Amino acid sequence: MTRFPDRYREISVTDVDVPLEAGPLRELLTSRPVYRRSDYMVVRRGGQAALVRLTKGPEAGLFAPVVDVELLAAPTETVYLRRPGLDTGVPTALLAAAAEAPGARCVVVEGSYGHVSFVLDPAPVRVHVLDVVPPRPAKLLDQLQRVLETADDLPGLQLVPHVVELADLLPVPGEGNYLLPCRGGGMDVPGTTVAYLDEVPPRADWTLLGCTRSRQIHDVLYGGPVRQIDMCPRTLAARAGVPGGEVLVTKCCLFEFSNEVDGRTVVTPWGASFGQLREALATAVRIAAAAESPVPS
Ligand SMILES: [Zn+2]
Repeated sequence: MTRFPDRYREISVTDVDVPLEAGPLRELLTSRPVYRRSDYMVVRRGGQAALVRLTKGPEAGLFAPVVDVELLAAPTETVYLRRPGLDTGVPTALLAAAAEAPGARCVVVEGSYGHVSFVLDPAPVRVHVLDVVPPRPAKLLDQLQRVLETADDLPGLQLVPHVVELADLLPVPGEGNYLLPCRGGGMDVPGTTVAYLDEVPPRADWTLLGCTRSRQIHDVLYGGPVRQIDMCPRTLAARAGVPGGEVLVTKCCLFEFSNEVDGRTVVTPWGASFGQLREALATAVRIAAAAESPVPS
């Protein structure tokens, strides 16, 4: 299971002059007290690093005696990275750095503000994201990524993008007369004729490449019926299914105010706020955790 400290105060860093092995480290570190909030220590010697967990005795003021140490990761299992721009308080950022050192059980990162943190046995929670383009970049994916840049209250997540090109939904590539919801989400496919619903063009023999909400607007403006290719990400996600029983976040044209959960899929409103997106990721994490440890029957 992935382990990282809750707060940077829980980690201290010490350069030592003894071999980075359990015995010598125990002898050294139990000989002196530590700050009461220190639970882990990164020990360094000669360009190498190791990680130990501290077992402390009763606190005396700001300090506590160390009664035992456990070597969590030996130097052969530990990689030390210097990433000055990385906020080590954000688990997703830590996990992303750890991905630079595949195979390392323990990745120690010296990041922004000189803070040092670590991740042991890195295994990010994979969250699939289904979005459509254009507009580019894929907005939901981009905004979720930006939420994660400051998400110090979520475990380390890895977004797995599933970006669907609107043009790939056309039955015959490069042919046909299409009506799209708006120019912002436009589509440039040679050979096709494209009109935009929000410009209310004169009615033509078109196929609506749009979501249910666009269909409703179309029917008010022009009356039905109309051929439609449903490009709502929620519809596309339901058709594709959630890969490997994992969790997925997507959006729906019909939701305006709040997220909804549909099995292992979290659906956000089309123009979700950053708060709603953060909540969607937290919900995805809860679903993933519940799937990992099912209630015994
Ligand atoms: Zn929808």
